[in-house]
Amino acid sequence: MILPGGAIGILGGGQLGRMLAVPARQLGYTVNVLAPLGDAPALGLADHAIRASFEDQGAARQLAAMSDVVTSELENVPAATARAVAERRALHPSVELLAITQDRNEEHAFLDGLGISTAPGRPVHTVEELESAISLLGYPSRLKSARGGYDGGGQFRLRTPGALDEARRLVPTLRRGWRLEGELRFERELSVLVARSEAGEVVCYPPFENEHRDGILHVTTWPASGSPRAHSRALEIARTIAEASGLVGLMCVECFVAGDEVRVNELAPRVHNSGHLTIEGASVSQFETHIRAICGLPLLTPEPVAGGVAMVNLLGSEDRKHVRLHGCDEALRDPRVHVHLYGKDRERPRRKMGHVTATGVDAADARARAERAAAVLRFGG
Ligand code: AMP
Repeated sequence: MILPGGAIGILGGGQLGRMLAVPARQLGYTVNVLAPLGDAPALGLADHAIRASFEDQGAARQLAAMSDVVTSELENVPAATARAVAERRALHPSVELLAITQDRNEEHAFLDGLGISTAPGRPVHTVEELESAISLLGYPSRLKSARGGYDGGGQFRLRTPGALDEARRLVPTLRRGWRLEGELRFERELSVLVARSEAGEVVCYPPFENEHRDGILHVTTWPASGSPRAHSRALEIARTIAEASGLVGLMCVECFVAGDEVRVNELAPRVHNSGHLTIEGASVSQFETHIRAICGLPLLTPEPVAGGVAMVNLLGSEDRKHVRLHGCDEALRDPRVHVHLYGKDRERPRRKMGHVTATGVDAADARARAERAAAVLRFGG
């Protein structure tokens, strides 16, 4: 057990690191952050900062030496950096789990091995593999980069055979390859946060429901709609993955749901955007749960604190510096609304700048409040 008073190292300086630092500091841990130069919202809440590239193994060793345990707020940590940390200190997520979740094809092979359904798909490294995969999967389908895809990035949609030439051109551009996935018809997207401690204690958040716009999460509502059987299946899947992967910490399992059928879309071995509503909306936040799990503290069974909770992301619309959030005078009049701004220096179109959470009598009421607040909030100088 790493007792409060000890030190937690975080690889990554984004908003997830910032929100992790809050309960870590509240519990009395020292927070050390390794982040590259540039905008790093976590640094404002860190005790010690190391400004270095994620490729810098010396810096990673320094972070490990300063910390009793190290975690990561991003899954794309270079393997050599993760190993440099893990040789010195416990790293959660582990090198092995990072390797699985950094590559869509590895991740799907892992899920297949557990008998967990996913979208039908095939690894694609060559034009020949693309052609045989498309003859199997048909249209519409999606060519997804095996590595580094995020917020719908690194994806190319093949709606009709007319898109095949462009896909043929794309395939050789990535050394680490692609995955071609048949497009599913689903009714809703759910995510389940699951946490496991070293002692093997596992807890899950009841599923959240997510709506994306242009590949980026727009709104999360809780509790999710849909069949109780689908919810139980999603929870069972998340628990199976946590146990089979030896997870220590918190992970997000994103699922597509049609009726009672649940298929996993992807895994994120870290705190997740869909879990931001747990800060004000759950008996224990995803960030505190992660800190508890990696430090060996007891895990609590999370539940919503209201009939409904919702979160709406605040995305940037322009490229500008020194952002101010306008409209708070109106948005903050609703006592059930909570506004978060991540303290990023630079606004950019589609960049996640903050979010709004609202509680309500049910999920629809919470969503209406969160959307109403988000609609009056705008970035400016
Ligand atoms: P991803 O980056 O794989 O999470 O994809 C981003 C979003 O694209 C998902 O949240 C879905 O809304 C959509 N999407 C991804 N894969 C599929 C698929 N196989 N079928 C239908 N929609 C998909």
